[in-house]
Amino acid sequence: MLQPNASSPYWNPRIASLSPYTPGEQPRIANLIKLNTNELPYPPSPRVVAAIQQELGEPLRRYPDPEAKALREVLARRYRVDPSWVFVGNGSDEVLAFAFQGLLGHSGPVRFPEITYSFYPVYCGLYALPFETTPLDEDFTLDCAALRAAGRGGVVFPNPNAPTGIALPLAEVERIVAAHQGKAVVLVDEAYVDFGSESAVPLTHRYDNLLVVQTFSKSRALAGLRVGFAIGQPPLIEALTRIKDSFNSYPLDRLAQAGAIAALEDEAYFEQTRQAVIAERERLATALAAMGFVVLPSKANFLFARHPSIGGAALAQSLRARAILVRHFAKPERIAPFVRITVGAPEQNDALLAALRAIG
Ligand code: PMP
Repeated sequence: MLQPNASSPYWNPRIASLSPYTPGEQPRIANLIKLNTNELPYPPSPRVVAAIQQELGEPLRRYPDPEAKALREVLARRYRVDPSWVFVGNGSDEVLAFAFQGLLGHSGPVRFPEITYSFYPVYCGLYALPFETTPLDEDFTLDCAALRAAGRGGVVFPNPNAPTGIALPLAEVERIVAAHQGKAVVLVDEAYVDFGSESAVPLTHRYDNLLVVQTFSKSRALAGLRVGFAIGQPPLIEALTRIKDSFNSYPLDRLAQAGAIAALEDEAYFEQTRQAVIAERERLATALAAMGFVVLPSKANFLFARHPSIGGAALAQSLRARAILVRHFAKPERIAPFVRITVGAPEQNDALLAALRAIG
C-alpha cells in the first residue's frame, strides 16, 4: 500500500491532497467497546433482517429498481411530501457528494462552519469547489449571522452539528434558509436529527432552496446497509437524480432498498431504540460532568467532552489501551482537548465510566 502522503505522476493533483479513510476507526478486535463512529448500540429491527432474507437467493439475479420507487414512496409518506421530493443514495455521504457536485459552490464559495463534518472540505477538494468557513462562538454554537451573510455559493451545516452535538433551533435554520432564498442552496445535514433536535423537512414546503439530508446509519441502526436520503423541492431532487444517472443508475442494491423500507415500517422499534439512546446520553453526560468533564449540550447520539486535566489525544489513547474506542480530532486546535464519545448501550457506558475513573 502507498504511504498516506504518497503521490503518483499519473494522478490528478487533486487526489494527492486527499487522505485515505483511517482504517484505525474500524479495527477488527474482539470485545472492543466501539464508541467512535456514532453507530447505534442496538441491532436493526428484526423486520429489516426478515425483509433482507426475502431478497436473498433468486431475486438477486435481477437488477434493483433504479428509481427505488417503493422506498421513496414510504419515505414520502413518513415525511409528508410527494415522492418526487425524495432522493435516495448510498449513505448520506453519497447524497452529500452529489449535492456538492450539482448544487453548491458553482457561483461562489460554499460556506460551512469551521468546526463541522470533516467531509465537507474533502468534497470541495475533490470537485474543485471554492469554500470559506464561518467561525463558532465561544460556546461552540454556530455563527448564524455568518451563515446568513450574502453569497451565491450556498451553505451547508449539520444540525445538530458534528462533532459538537449542538443543535440550532428551527427558527435560526429558517432565517439562514430565508437569507439565501432565490440566490443559493442551503443544505441541512440532519444525520443526527432523530436524537432530539427539530427537523427542517417541514420548511421544504416554503423554501425552494432548502435541501435536507438524512441517513439510516444512526437512528435506524443501518450504517452497514448504506442508505441516505434527501428531501427538497423537485428541481433540487432532479439535479441529484441527473448526477446519479450519469454515475451509476443503480445506487441502492436490492437488499438496501428492502431493508430500508422495513426499517421505516417498524416505527415502534425506532422509537424504543432512539429513546433508549437519548436517556443514556443524558445519564452519561451527567456522570461525565460529575467527574469534572466539560460536556457540550448534545442533541445527537454522541457527547463532545473535555477531561479536566488529560488532553484529548492522551485520553483516547488510554481508553484504547483498555479496548474502548472514542474519537479524537487533532484539528482544528480548539477541539483537540476534546474527545467525541458515541452513546453506547448501558453496559458499554458503564464500562467507559469505570475506565475513566481508573485513568483518573
Ligand atoms: N453527515 C454527518 C454529519 C455525519 O456525521 C455522517 C457520519 N459519519 C454522515 C453525514 C454520513 O453518514 P452515512 O454516509 O453513513 O449516511
